[in-house]
Amino acid sequence: MLVEAPRWRAAIEVQLSRLTLDAIADRQARYASAGIRGAWLIGYGVPEYEADPALPLFRLLPCGDGRRVPAVVPAVSRMVDGRLGLDRFTTKLLTGEVRFMPAAAEPHLVTVATVCWRCQRDIAVPLGFGNIGGHPVLAPGGFLAAQDVGKVPEVLAAYRTALPTLLLRRPDLAVLRPGRRETQGWMGHCPECDSAISPYRLHRAGGGPSGPTLWRMDGEPWAHDSAPQAAWAWIGP
Ligand SMILES: [Zn+2]
Repeated sequence: MLVEAPRWRAAIEVQLSRLTLDAIADRQARYASAGIRGAWLIGYGVPEYEADPALPLFRLLPCGDGRRVPAVVPAVSRMVDGRLGLDRFTTKLLTGEVRFMPAAAEPHLVTVATVCWRCQRDIAVPLGFGNIGGHPVLAPGGFLAAQDVGKVPEVLAAYRTALPTLLLRRPDLAVLRPGRRETQGWMGHCPECDSAISPYRLHRAGGGPSGPTLWRMDGEPWAHDSAPQAAWAWIGP
């Protein structure tokens, strides 16, 4: 499908029969030389594909069990399951809500070491989430404070997915839950005595004495030598 706007042209190519990645890249280069931005919806897995800003490639899932609209998922996905109906996906694609996320911009959890104010146990408390794109108000500069995690469903979902692994790695981790008063937002809760610990206050105090620790959203400690893959993602519901 060719989309012509006053100042740009875009092609959305649905490819259900198998083409090699090289053949797709060739056709993409011909689009580019004709001044057309191309995006591909592929009906099969392309395991050798690595997310590339010059070659937007997504998986098209067939309509199953009565679904009337095919769904699209990123060919290389990160963080959350981003299944979208083809109609919504196309709207996002053409309005700039489908974004390329480079490998260095992986969302991560930031924790600091502190001491529980009540039971004095050494604990780790989440301060917030780094490299969160698409939320200029809640996450200015890409940092979402832990007390606001309940306001960003995709980050909350990713946190909940990561939590079992995080707790295996850090049994002293305070778990985020809504505070008793709504104005508090989400609070850390001491794994020993369940007292609420305010991430906001910790943040204001400059974090813990040993500096922050970063965690990937699959629950493993961040290691810069195991940089995650670049990916395509979309913003908004
Ligand atoms: Zn405690």
